[in-house]
Amino acid sequence: MSKKPRAAFFDFAGCEGCQLQVANLEEDIIKLLELVEVVEFREVMTGEAEEYDIAFVEGSITRKSDENRLKDIRERSKLVVAYGQCAVSGGINRLKNNWSSMDDVKKCVYGDDSNLAHLDTYPTRGIDEVVEVDLYIPGCPIDRDEFLRMVKELCLGKTPRLPNHPVCVECKLKENICLFDQGVICLGPLARAGCGARCPSNGSPCEACRGTVENPNKNAMHEILDKYNYTVEEIRRTINLFGVNPEVKK
Ligand code: SF4
Ligand code: SF4
Ligand code: SF4
Repeated sequence: MSKKPRAAFFDFAGCEGCQLQVANLEEDIIKLLELVEVVEFREVMTGEAEEYDIAFVEGSITRKSDENRLKDIRERSKLVVAYGQCAVSGGINRLKNNWSSMDDVKKCVYGDDSNLAHLDTYPTRGIDEVVEVDLYIPGCPIDRDEFLRMVKELCLGKTPRLPNHPVCVECKLKENICLFDQGVICLGPLARAGCGARCPSNGSPCEACRGTVENPNKNAMHEILDKYNYTVEEIRRTINLFGVNPEVKK
């Protein structure tokens, strides 16, 4: 590719933490700018672009009106990348879909104002439930090194791949004491690696913010649950946190 691809960054519902991961690449920002020409990125520059080669989309779709904006981005871009778990699966915003009704969600959040006309009852969606997505970069937030690697591979015409082994592998390589042995439920046996087992290495359980591996070893998970006297329901509640459980996808 003789010219650098034109890259634009967009956000929907989220905390903007994934944009910050890109904005805070520090000296590695040079590596990103060697790969792409950034033509739109509200958080770090002014100006808008008419069209782009790669649209990086952060955030989940939480309003009907978001759909048209996202479709417009899709039409203007050759490739669309969902980056961050909000965009990949709906992320933490998807928790509201587990409630029995969207009206109850509105009442809980807005109380007496829940009947205001602009508040709709739209369930949270990942962006691929509205438009076609070419690449997923998971995590809450994304891992900066993984982001750079995947963008580089994309620009070289390769197909970027995610690790497909569980967080437990990275955790055991670090010789951590397993949290199950300390009375804490951890989703490491199911969760997709690539973060360096960041949470269990710092004493917190993995909550699968990067989704699960393909074909997770459910038998092994059942054996662990039996051994430590936990139920499937307790794991299901945790795995719902980042909207990665296919059972809760609408
Ligand atoms: S994935 Fe996490 S860090 Fe990224 S925008 Fe959503 S809530 Fe924020
Ligand atoms: S602490 Fe979690 S990630 Fe680490 S070995 Fe135990 S279950 Fe796996
Ligand atoms: S340990 Fe689990 S929750 Fe923590 S960053 Fe890694 S995948 Fe996400």
